[in-house]
Amino acid sequence: MAEQKFVKLKSIGNKFIKIKCKDCGNEQITYSKVSSTVVCNICGATIAKPTGGTVAVSGEYTGEL
Ligand SMILES: [Zn+2]
Repeated sequence: MAEQKFVKLKSIGNKFIKIKCKDCGNEQITYSKVSSTVVCNICGATIAKPTGGTVAVSGEYTGEL
C-alpha cells in the first residue's frame, strides 16, 4: 500500500467539510476538527486524521458543507 500523504488544512474554524477519497472518489462529510482518524465509508482508506487543530486530509478537500 502506498504511503499516504496528509495535508493540514488552513484554519477554517469549526465547520463541517467535505473530503473526496482519492482511492474511490467517495465524497464524505466530516468535521474540521476531529479527535480520531476518519476512514472512507466505502473503501476504508484513512482520509483524515487529527492534528490537535484543523484536520489533516489525505483526500481532496472539496469545500465546506
Ligand atoms: Zn474511499
